[in-house]
Amino acid sequence: MAKVYFYYSAMNAGKSTTLLQASYNYIERGMQTLLFAPKIDLRFENTVIYSRIGLKQSATPFDSEFSFLSYVQHQLEHTPNIRCILIDEAHFLKKQQVGELFEIASDLGIAVLCYGLRSDFLGEPFEGSRYLLAWAEEIAEIKTICKCGKKGTMNLRIDKDGQPVTQGAQIQIGGNESYISQCMRCFKKAVPCFKKPLKLETLS
Ligand SMILES: [Zn+2]
Repeated sequence: MAKVYFYYSAMNAGKSTTLLQASYNYIERGMQTLLFAPKIDLRFENTVIYSRIGLKQSATPFDSEFSFLSYVQHQLEHTPNIRCILIDEAHFLKKQQVGELFEIASDLGIAVLCYGLRSDFLGEPFEGSRYLLAWAEEIAEIKTICKCGKKGTMNLRIDKDGQPVTQGAQIQIGGNESYISQCMRCFKKAVPCFKKPLKLETLS
């Protein structure tokens, strides 16, 4: 049975490359895929997903009102061989849209592969990732490295001088120049306003 997958990581771990490789694997075996990317991402022509190592493929832009289920049902009328849909920057999905993805997997029999960040530049979870982490049938991490050599799990926003940014809107799209992945220890030093995790009370 088709499932919903969530591949999460910090910035610059190669999510788009992994997405494009997965799509290529389907196409190589004679199956069709559909790719989606948020309209918000204006770094590139918004209908193409690029990876930093040179792969690219056309994508359908989505916003918060977009219905994945209706779109895929419509596409199936012309292209019945769609076996997989792949969503870049899936942290921008709304709860309702994440819900639709399970109908695509279970009712239409199409695998749904989502790629995204867990948290924003202040460590707060994105809506899309919160529900993907809660509901996805398969979850895996795409690992990346902090400057100190530990695993990078947090996303530090930096300004043009490389200094940490600790306030501003949650959504500000940028590539290598605006974000760096850091381990929790380095992130907490750079973002002093990030709350320390609560200590669990010892049960008596
Ligand atoms: Zn570090």
